[in-house]
Amino acid sequence: MTNAEQALLDAIASRHDAMVATTVALCDVNSGSYHNDGIARVQAALDTLFRPLSDTVEERRLSPIPQVTDTGEVSHFEPRPMQIFRARPTAPLQILMTGHSDTVFPPDSDFLTCWTEGNHLRGPGTADMKGGLVALATALQVLEDSAWRDQFGFTVAISPDEEIGSIGSGPVLMELARTADYGMTYEPALADGTLAGARKGSGNFTLVARGLSTHAGREFFQGRNAVVAIAQIAARLAALSDEATGVTVNVGQIRGGGAVNVVPDTCVCRFNVRVHEAEQQATVLAAIEAAIAAVSADTGCELTLHGQFNRPPKPMTDPQADMFKLLRDCGAELGLGIDWRATGGCCEGNNLAAAGLLNIDTLGVRGANIHSTDEYACLDSFVERAQLSALFVTRLIAAGPRRGAAQSMET
Ligand SMILES: [Zn+2]
Repeated sequence: MTNAEQALLDAIASRHDAMVATTVALCDVNSGSYHNDGIARVQAALDTLFRPLSDTVEERRLSPIPQVTDTGEVSHFEPRPMQIFRARPTAPLQILMTGHSDTVFPPDSDFLTCWTEGNHLRGPGTADMKGGLVALATALQVLEDSAWRDQFGFTVAISPDEEIGSIGSGPVLMELARTADYGMTYEPALADGTLAGARKGSGNFTLVARGLSTHAGREFFQGRNAVVAIAQIAARLAALSDEATGVTVNVGQIRGGGAVNVVPDTCVCRFNVRVHEAEQQATVLAAIEAAIAAVSADTGCELTLHGQFNRPPKPMTDPQADMFKLLRDCGAELGLGIDWRATGGCCEGNNLAAAGLLNIDTLGVRGANIHSTDEYACLDSFVERAQLSALFVTRLIAAGPRRGAAQSMET
């Protein structure tokens, strides 16, 4: 460890209390994905953090996000803009750093503020991922005062819609990823420090069945039962899951029908599909289309499929493994063991990989129980993970540009 590196680490260590206080302030404001007022307030706080480090600040308007209602109508949700902070865009090495300002907790949740229990900072978004964004800002702050400053440029991109699939942000992330050498994303590490390696791909879909409503007594045989159509296709969808290939189809919700003396004309089914390999996306989609055709023919109901694969798989390629080994070396210097393992979960690291960008996507604070009211971040990981990030940036600078090194998954 050089004196200059030690100075970076010491500067971060002195900021522990400020990091925790900033995280608490961010988490005490609800920013559920559909709560635009709350997201705007969190974005204002993030602007205060990142603007002083940036040459330019952009608020990128995102496309409206289509949603299917429980009665099968399509409406559109207008997300907040995506925040994009840039510094030194002509420096020899460009790093894309990404995160999200939204959480899974709606404003009427009973999990709205932070508290401390021993080493755990409990609260919504403490781990996923407001704590991570604060660790990132802290790493950039200390690099700003160092000799490494002019050797790299960064783009910090913060999505408002990650927890609902980054449907708006995804195309912007793809665009930004193409002009970067490395990606660093601030999803939480597991409580023991384990990172996510390879990730499955994922898509969310909604099927709307339209039949014909009739009286169950007077003209039952003239009706076309949408609930029965969805029941049939749900069984067919479930049968597409295959442990051997890793493909899963999870039927998550069915809504439809009403009084039992009426043949129901509408039913809505929501499901999630996960795949190991990009090629499986087309295969599963073809099987879904075939199931739709068969059930339509059998029931006389019209079935309409909405949705898409929004996160392509992120495979562990050789260059990707090299990036992890570089991080492991940084961890060793800090006395941290760095391990990673494959996961069925996915995040914006999938989107970056799909654009060919090498990236590590769990550089945020350590934590657990995310997406539940038991979420917490480990207080002893704030300094640790910010130090890891700062040291990692110096090593990426030394390693040099590797644009387009990840296996491109674009189709
Ligand atoms: Zn997250």
